[in-house]
Formats: sequence, structure tokens, C-alpha cells
Amino acid sequence: MGLDFSYNIAVAEELGNIRCGGIPMAIGVQASMATPALTRFGSHELKKQFLVPTIAGDFVACLGISEAGAGSDVANIKTTAVRKGDEYVINGGKMWITSGSQADWMCLLANTSEGPPHRNKSLICLPMNLPGIHVAKKIDKLGMKSSDTAQIFFEDVRVPCKNLIGEEGKGFTYQMLQFQEERLWGVAIALTPMETIIQETIEYTQQRKVFGQPVLHNQTVHFRLAELATEVELLRSLLHRAVALYVEGNDVTKFASMAKLKAGRLTREVTDSCLQFWGGMGFTSEVLVSRFYRDLRLMSIGGGTDETMLSIICKYMDILPRK
Ligand SMILES: Cc1cc2nc3c(=O)[nH]c(=O)nc-3n(C[C@H](O)[C@H](O)[C@H](O)COP(=O)(O)OP(=O)(O)OC[C@H]3O[C@@H](n4cnc5c(N)ncnc54)[C@H](O)[C@@H]3O)c2cc1C
Repeated sequence: MGLDFSYNIAVAEELGNIRCGGIPMAIGVQASMATPALTRFGSHELKKQFLVPTIAGDFVACLGISEAGAGSDVANIKTTAVRKGDEYVINGGKMWITSGSQADWMCLLANTSEGPPHRNKSLICLPMNLPGIHVAKKIDKLGMKSSDTAQIFFEDVRVPCKNLIGEEGKGFTYQMLQFQEERLWGVAIALTPMETIIQETIEYTQQRKVFGQPVLHNQTVHFRLAELATEVELLRSLLHRAVALYVEGNDVTKFASMAKLKAGRLTREVTDSCLQFWGGMGFTSEVLVSRFYRDLRLMSIGGGTDETMLSIICKYMDILPRK
């Protein structure tokens, strides 16, 4: 039981057409960020309780990995889930949680033992209506303003141990696997906005005349747009290749990280270059290009930063210095 991944990716490419960034973000968390580990490793009971209503759209899911003191360094999270009888008692807090103030449940990463940081963590399905869960604030952001991003604290939150996803101590590994779907989804969701911006820029620069000719007739403009369109197609090809390998059961960590890195870089290039061709209009809130300039800036940060992607790629190339 679960969501078919190649279908998710196809939907994500389509979702890029929705001009409200908050909707794709929430759907992405629901389908490709908070649920892949539950789908793959969760018990039948847990899937019935959390996954089925999430797929049906009756539950809103969120993913609780990042903390105020640990974003890129996931191994360093401090939230604990201490076993007491047949319950975990959770203390700590999570930061940057998309859909956090509205979610019915969180896929929570917490330390369940004192052991080494890659083997002491577990993923837990945490209902968000339990006593001791405090949504501290909705975070005011540069972009993605219609997406709810929250800081959340846990104070002696008690959750049944049966809410554990898979095996205790495997949470870090499960999350690293879960990240692959999140990152490929992130790439898919960026493609259509980039194409839309390029197309809108073509249309605007065709009709906007400067020094007696359309802006588009300047070679520097039409060559640049052609180059950006080419890069978008290259990224799409890498995405499709990675997804095809993934659904065949291969480890695509390297390709997913490369695609995510490129998507972060390219969304910045496309939105920055295109905004420039709109002149003053590009700097207003009236046009989509300025909205995407702000919203898509998240691509280089959320789901792992560009630098984190580079570190992973280096690891796979065996060129990352060992500590
Ligand atoms: C809008 C938004 C929504 C989010 N949604 C969620 C969510 O739903 N759930 C969730 O768990 N998290 C979420 N995040 C958190 C996101 O995953 C983190 O912001 C991201 O992983 C970076 O962590 P950080 O912000 O703590 O940056 P830091 O880890 O503090 O990094 C700061 C800078 O240092 C750089 N850096 C780190 N290590 C290295 C290195 N080795 N070499 C060079 N540079 C390095 C980073 O790349 C970055 O540029 C969201 C974030 C945002 C902004």
C-alpha cells in the first residue's frame, strides 16, 4: 500500500502549473516527504491509522527532521523519545516544519537511545493533537508565503511505542532513503515554473519595444532564453533517468543529489535572468517572475542545501576528505 512514486513525479510536474506555491509544497510533504518511510517500513496497523487517511486527503502530514540547532547536520538533532513502558516520552523541538501548524500527524525523527548518532534515531508517527505539543509560531518567510512553516516544541509528549516506523535505531537510515523521494519531487515541481517563466518572458519581451525594437530581438536576450530552456530539458532528462532507476529498485542517491543541486542552481539562474529582461516590471509584485524569484530560492535550501548535495556527490565520487 502506498503512493506510486513515478505517478507522484508526474503529478509534481503537473502541479508546477499551480500558481500558489503553498499547494504544491503541502502536497509534496504529504506524498513524497512524510510518507515514503511509512509506506516502505511501517506496520499494517500504522499504515491503516496514518497512511490511508493521508492518501485520502483526510489527514494533513508533516515531516519533523530539522531543528533550530540542526538542519544540514541531521545526525546532530537533540529531540529525544525515551521509552517508558509501552510509550515514548518526547522532549525537544522542530524547526521549519512545512504544514506544521495544520498537520494531523508528524513523521518525527528523534533520538531513541544514547548510541552512535547514525544508529540511535527512530522515525515515529506522532499525532499532533497530543498534550505537550506546542506550535510556537508560524515563520514569516522571503517566499512560499502561502505555505505554512512552523516551529514546534514537545514537552513530555507521550505516544504509544507501536507508532514506531519499522525498527528502532533505523530512523536515520530510513530518513536518508526518504530524502531521495523528497529531492526528486523537488526537482519535478521546479520544471514547469521554470518553463512558464521562460515562456512569459518570451511573450513580454516580444511585445516590449526598447530603442525601436522588441527586447527579444537582442541576441543576448534570445540566446540566453534558448540556453536556459536547454538546461531545463537537461534537468528533466536527469530527473526521468533517476526516477526510472529508482522505481526499478536502484540506489539513486547520487543522481537525486545531482538533480536537486542542479535544480537549485537553475531555478536561481532562470528567475534572475528572466526578471532582468522584464526591467522595472520584473521588480514589481504584479508579475509572476518576481514571485518565482522569491519562491524558488527555497530550492537551494529546503530538502538539503546545495552544499549538502555537493557533499553527498563528493562522497559517492570518493573525493570527500575523511574526518
Ligand atoms: C521554507 C522551508 C520549509 C522547510 N520545511 C521543512 C520541513 O517540512 N521539515 C523539516 O524537517 N525541515 C524543513 N526545512 C528545513 C530545511 O531542510 C533546512 O533549512 C536545511 O536542511 C538547511 O538547514 P539549516 O537551515 O539549519 O541551515 P544550516 O545547516 O545552519 O546551514 C547554513 C549554511 O551552511 C552551509 N553548510 C553546512 N554544512 C556545510 C559544509 N560542510 N560545507 C559548506 N557549507 C556548509 C549550508 O549549506 C547552509 O548554506 C524547511 C526549510 C525552509 C526554509
